Amino acid sequence: METIRMVDLKSQYSLIAEEVQSALSEVIESTAFINGPAVQEFQANLEQYLDVKHVIPCANGTDALQIALMGLKLAPGDEVITADFTFAATVEVISLLQLTPVLVDVDPQTFNIDPKAIEAAITPKTKAIIPVHLFGQAANMEAINALAEKHQLYVVEDNAQGIGASYTYANGTKAKTGTLGHIAATSFFPSKNLGAYGDGGAIFTNDDELAHFIRGIVNHGMYKRYYHDVVGVNSRLDAMQAAVLNVKLKYLDYYNERRKEAAIRYTQLLENHPNIVTPYRAADCSSHVFHQYTLRIIDRDRDALVRYLNDNDIPCGVYYPVPLHRQKAYAQPGTNEAQFPVTNQLVKEVISLPMHSELSVEQIEYIAEKVLDFLA
Ligand SMILES: *Cc1c(COP(=O)(O)O)cnc(C)c1O
Repeated sequence: METIRMVDLKSQYSLIAEEVQSALSEVIESTAFINGPAVQEFQANLEQYLDVKHVIPCANGTDALQIALMGLKLAPGDEVITADFTFAATVEVISLLQLTPVLVDVDPQTFNIDPKAIEAAITPKTKAIIPVHLFGQAANMEAINALAEKHQLYVVEDNAQGIGASYTYANGTKAKTGTLGHIAATSFFPSKNLGAYGDGGAIFTNDDELAHFIRGIVNHGMYKRYYHDVVGVNSRLDAMQAAVLNVKLKYLDYYNERRKEAAIRYTQLLENHPNIVTPYRAADCSSHVFHQYTLRIIDRDRDALVRYLNDNDIPCGVYYPVPLHRQKAYAQPGTNEAQFPVTNQLVKEVISLPMHSELSVEQIEYIAEKVLDFLA
């Protein structure tokens, strides 16, 4: 059996090596290293894939979130509601922009931001909500958009883990995550479902005016060369990364399909065990692209399971071991722990098993067997 890896970019590369090499050579020979045709082409292809009017490439996912928020022209002290259970980048950019992060609890089934908790946290200062499509599963966007409409708030989707997922509205229509709110951010960090060979990110929106404003922000606030209308940043997607992403975008649905198959196999092997909760998914799985395959381990020592798997050459991850409201950088005096019952439980129970598009059935069966051995 091949060595088990948390993500296996090497095997994935071996299947597309020639295409990637030739795309990279083209950029090198063209010397169009900044912006240029590779970036333009990727932007157009991603707009088409997502069915969104504007994709604005940038340097990484954290920048994408920051620039999306800058585009909304919020004022210092405005409140932005996001999930307590997510990667820190989401809350980091809120604080960096002198906005006030308001962390709320998540849903125990999907691990995504809980609309009831959002509603309870809305104040006259609330200006935006950032739902995160955590682990690749679409958040409850219909409920979130309804709250946003009722209270006149912006919705900024953090789609760093969800690219390629389809959200199904109650009336049956579907749309890709990242096109459901006012604006969205994604990351092309190598281990993401659509990963570059370095850093990369993008912002999506259907709003023409907002897109225009943001195209200036990413380029030093310039709308006309050397005329700086607003304070911007320098955040560009590298042309070499765009060339890699252009190749990999063609395979994104295939990669996500392989992840889904792996998830279904894991679940068949692990469900109905009294100490395991397998990830929630809709019947057709379309709303989940399994950036992570994350179990809850009930009434057993999760950290001992991590050690046991590692001892058996199985890497695994704990995303995330500390709730954001307890991180030194974001803790607020007087926070009531009782506001976060679900996150406080999840940080003790979650474990993410190896998940990527090259996992073999043999590897999945071995991993599941070791999880069950430990719990036996
Ligand atoms: C990866 C990630 C980011 C940040 O992306 P970078 O490209 O690493 O800056 C933001 N939010 C979430 C939920 C992520 O998983």
